[in-house]
Amino acid sequence: MSFRIETEKLDDYTLLVRPIGAISGDSDLSGLIPKGSARVILDLANISRIDSLGVREWIRAMQSSGDSQTIVWERVSPAMSSQVGMITNFVGRGSVASFILPWWCQACGNEHTTDVEAQALKRSGLESPECPKCGATMMLDELDEGYIDALLEHAP
Ligand SMILES: [Zn+2]
Repeated sequence: MSFRIETEKLDDYTLLVRPIGAISGDSDLSGLIPKGSARVILDLANISRIDSLGVREWIRAMQSSGDSQTIVWERVSPAMSSQVGMITNFVGRGSVASFILPWWCQACGNEHTTDVEAQALKRSGLESPECPKCGATMMLDELDEGYIDALLEHAP
């Protein structure tokens, strides 16, 4: 899948940046943290995969942010979340506001995702959703709770 970056100006200070696709060493991340935007919101829901060279490019892009820029990560995809606990400097100066958790139903095999606010999770802990198909309590798919702790270390 090819990689691209969409941007949307939310107000005079805030730019929404939405990288989409798989990130590799060839991905152009120069538009990820545009200079001149005081606040950059990274919507990371659509990053399907990132390989080791992509991680290197990603860290470089994070380090390119200016000291006065605020970087917020939202809707971090499971592919990105799995790197947060493993790679030092992966989040850089960013803060993780929300992330997507993948769930799996042991009873019927259904898969489901939930969009979780980091601060709400800190307050009330992790609640397993009920399966939309059969009502059974769902289990975290792939990501274990260690990943969630790593994400929460970067919560605002
Ligand atoms: Zn089910």
